[in-house]
Amino acid sequence: MGTPVIGVLALQGDVREHLSALAAAGVQGAPVRRPEELDTVDGLVLPGGESTTMSKLATLFGMADPLRERIRSGLPVYGTCAGMIMLADKILDPRSGQETFGGVEMIVRRNAFGRQNESFEAAVDIPGIPGGPVEGVFIRAPWVESVGAGVQILAEHGGHIVAVRQGNVLATSFHPELTGDHRVHRYFADMVRDAG
Ligand code: GLN
Repeated sequence: MGTPVIGVLALQGDVREHLSALAAAGVQGAPVRRPEELDTVDGLVLPGGESTTMSKLATLFGMADPLRERIRSGLPVYGTCAGMIMLADKILDPRSGQETFGGVEMIVRRNAFGRQNESFEAAVDIPGIPGGPVEGVFIRAPWVESVGAGVQILAEHGGHIVAVRQGNVLATSFHPELTGDHRVHRYFADMVRDAG
């Protein structure tokens, strides 16, 4: 594959920050709002934001089912924070009617690290990513309560799982797109290249 095109689901959330991080990581990013646009990308980022709103808008824009299918058929996807929640097969503390796309055999607890004013930064060591710990920005962040047998745990913080991978799907509780460190986006870009 030449330079892969990585979409960012642009219904809600920190889309712009992910597009800049992808550019800095040396890949082409593209906002994705409609099902047709989903067919033109080699991978997809689900940004941070508010998963309840993202869930509603995905249904409204006719994106929920096409996305579920693409993820199931192997599209590489990376979800940060709210995006991680969208990738959970099951969530704890959902709003009523909140749905996810699924893709990772995991149970995710929303707002597990506390409220907005309890947001924090912490160094997170991800053994698959060389060069020392990454700076984890946690904003009303979820954690992974439990995972199925096929899920690789990539990182923990304070005894809780904060980064996972299952096949072509990557998810972190924190927001690398809000830092100047693009190693996680580079890691995802490599996943997209390997899949292509
Ligand atoms: N707590 C938010 C949610 O439930 C996620 C917060 C974030 O993405 N920073 O969607």
